[in-house]
Amino acid sequence: MKPRINLKPKGEHKVRDGHLWVFSNEIAAVDGNPVNGDMVEVYNSNGYFIGAGFYNKNSLIAVRLIDKNPLNDIYVLLQNRIKKAYSLRKMFYPNRNSFRMVFGEGDFLPGLIIDKYNKTFVLQINSSGMEINIDNIVKILKDDFNAANIFTKNEFNFRKLECLPETDSVYLGNADEEIIDDGTIKFKIDFAKSQKTGFYFDQCDNREFIEKISAGKTFLDAFSNSGGFGLHAAKAGASKITFVDSSSAEVNNAKVNFQLNNFEIKSEFETVDVFDYLNKCISTNRKFDVVSVDPPAFAKNKKSLPVAKKGYEKLNRLAFQVVSDGGYLVTSSCSQNLTKADFIDIIETAARKTKKVIQQIHYNAASFDHPQIPVMPETTYLKFLVLRVFENGNL
Ligand code: SAH
Repeated sequence: MKPRINLKPKGEHKVRDGHLWVFSNEIAAVDGNPVNGDMVEVYNSNGYFIGAGFYNKNSLIAVRLIDKNPLNDIYVLLQNRIKKAYSLRKMFYPNRNSFRMVFGEGDFLPGLIIDKYNKTFVLQINSSGMEINIDNIVKILKDDFNAANIFTKNEFNFRKLECLPETDSVYLGNADEEIIDDGTIKFKIDFAKSQKTGFYFDQCDNREFIEKISAGKTFLDAFSNSGGFGLHAAKAGASKITFVDSSSAEVNNAKVNFQLNNFEIKSEFETVDVFDYLNKCISTNRKFDVVSVDPPAFAKNKKSLPVAKKGYEKLNRLAFQVVSDGGYLVTSSCSQNLTKADFIDIIETAARKTKKVIQQIHYNAASFDHPQIPVMPETTYLKFLVLRVFENGNL
């Protein structure tokens, strides 16, 4: 018999509606002494079975549900779910070999991220249940996906919350480099030096979108990282691209990628703080036809939200001031705690304070390889907004 978790009435509706997390304070009783990572069966307050999941007594998220049925074979379940996640990506990106192949809870695989870079698979393991199943996951990637390299590039702040060791491992091959193709642009990924798992796949669809507005334009890619937005603008025939990032390693990556794609248009690469750069542009009256700002998450948790909101407003006020009249502001936020409504509100305030009239051209979340669970706001984080920007009264 599997260990059994009996819920208080408090948490059971959320689970019934499809949320995959049971918080520790929603549990009435634990029977059977499960250890971290064990599969447990979850029962509602009337004693009915409502799901199976991974247990972790050290985490606020005490159970991460994985199925609504009692579980027989975890290997078969993982294999089926990973294959289903893969086929969803191939439907949207039939010609791509690189994408986020598994997006944790969004693919009903709680705590497991798999980014596929050709035959290199980079994992983030954020739940003790997935940690215990690492050999199964590695076997599936070898047997069913012909993996050449498998390793982790974990985010330690997530692992800390689950009391998992703050370590990384190579399970197959090496963790060196890969040249990927996002459909149109080539990127060289140096895994040792790059941020996150190596590439921000979540903005892929949005980078493609900015091609529609970039032909013949001057383009500022602020917080450029490896150059994603600017390179797509270059592909669309922008007249000049300026890449700005505070990380010299990332500015160098953007340079390498610009050369790799053989673009022959004007380009600038600046290793500098974006706030300083925008202030300098304002003081010298330098403008760009399209400005993209894609900062790191300012709100890492609920507590930091008020300060983060001020940061987003300030950044967008500065950005509005360097957009030429009739140009475009492309503005993103990857703070999960900031809602879409609050983000749009902040942007409207920034426009009003800088005396701009704005037209919303496009809104999107993360790319198709980041499916969301509607009842789990935790699976929704990226906000991407494209605005046309006019000086007041200049319509
Ligand atoms: N636009 C990128 C992803 C941006 S990630 C893409 O499409 O891939 C955020 C980037 O902001 C990181 O590369 C980080 O180095 C950079 N960064 C963080 N704070 C910064 C600051 N104050 N000024 C400039 N760059 C910053």
